[in-house]
Amino acid sequence: MTNRQTAIKVIKQLHHNGFQALMAGGCVRDMLLGRRAKDYDVATEAQPKDVIRLFKRTLKIGAKFGVVIVLTDEKQVEVATFRTETGYADGRHPGSVEFSNAAEDASRRDFTINGMFYDPLQKEVIDYVDGQADLKARVVRTIGKPSERFGEDYLRMLRAVRFSTQLGFEIEPETWRAIRRNAPSIARISGERIATELEGILVNPNRAAGASMLIASGLAETIFPALPRAQVQSAVGILRQLRKKVDYALALAGFFARAETDLTVQSCGILKLSRNRNKHIKFLLANRSRLLDDEMSLAQLKKILAEPYFWDLYELQRAIQKAKADSRKGIAPLTRLRKRIRTLGDVELQPKPLLNGHDLIRLGAVPGPGLGQLAEEMYIAQLEGTLRTADQAGQWAKRWLQEHRAVEK
Ligand code: ATP
Ligand code: MG
Repeated sequence: MTNRQTAIKVIKQLHHNGFQALMAGGCVRDMLLGRRAKDYDVATEAQPKDVIRLFKRTLKIGAKFGVVIVLTDEKQVEVATFRTETGYADGRHPGSVEFSNAAEDASRRDFTINGMFYDPLQKEVIDYVDGQADLKARVVRTIGKPSERFGEDYLRMLRAVRFSTQLGFEIEPETWRAIRRNAPSIARISGERIATELEGILVNPNRAAGASMLIASGLAETIFPALPRAQVQSAVGILRQLRKKVDYALALAGFFARAETDLTVQSCGILKLSRNRNKHIKFLLANRSRLLDDEMSLAQLKKILAEPYFWDLYELQRAIQKAKADSRKGIAPLTRLRKRIRTLGDVELQPKPLLNGHDLIRLGAVPGPGLGQLAEEMYIAQLEGTLRTADQAGQWAKRWLQEHRAVEK
């Protein structure tokens, strides 16, 4: 069963029990655009207690706000009771929800293209907000007065940019003016919610257009106040050069590719990303331009090749080079690097050290920082191919110890 068929099954069962039930929001928009929907949400006049009673397995986490998850056919369908949200005093959360009807439920939604319902039994679109006209015109427009709607929930500004990016739609002029006016208030939204919408914008192949909107609206400046505007601006050309499908970390690194690593790490802090993602971004930025170095030693090359995000670094650097005025000349060092990597064949990048710490102590090394340095230098010689056997390594270590003792004395 597809997600869509599962949602229709849920709708039929609600209908059978006398409740109006419709597909709602994003899936209706995507269906009308002929795009594959991410998930199929159901909106109904049935109240959470009814939904819980009618279906065998449900999750009640959001029941207070009118949302129940129905589990069926190994799928999850979000079933939300028609509701009105009122009293957004803080620009983030509705003060209260009241159960209501389809028309009122449509008018609490963010954009006209997201405010439609579809009745799969009658096969008809139910459109209280003129969403179909805006889908045809390819515009993102708030339902109701933009400044009021953004004032209820400032995240909607970022959502407007996300939908515009993902769908390739224009933002309707009054909606756009309201975003520009209210952009500083995005600071009131939690970093996690900002990060999720920003991900939708930056991982999309249309990310360069999205980034331009973030900058032109003033949202980028509010979210990342420490970053010089000119640097962010000039990174748009780099985002345009990145391949279509990229991880969020790589896309963010592209966005920050003209800025200092430390400033970026600090700026990303507000997004509350996972530790791994932060490490990923930091690696990409801290190693910018290292791949352009033709003089990189064999040991250095093997070490960086063994890094888990090496190919992301390569892709970032490729985009940086391609964004330069003379892009053909720009990627020449990377072409040479690829050749060098090819000639390595499938050599072991992280071989086991020929000798371990115990071996070195047996040869006369004293535990401590000196031992660490010896092991590191020996490993580099091994990666370089100078040392190939444990015997050679042993000779080499003895000489090293003699020389260093001589120096100490
Ligand atoms: P996607 O396909 O990217 O998931 P979507 O339209 O389904 O897009 P969601 O964030 O999943 O977007 O939200 C589902 C629906 O809930 C939206 O289509 C919209 O009608 C409504 N909605 C979501 N967030 C808000 C919000 N902050 N303010 C008002 N309505 C919202
Ligand atoms: Mg959705």
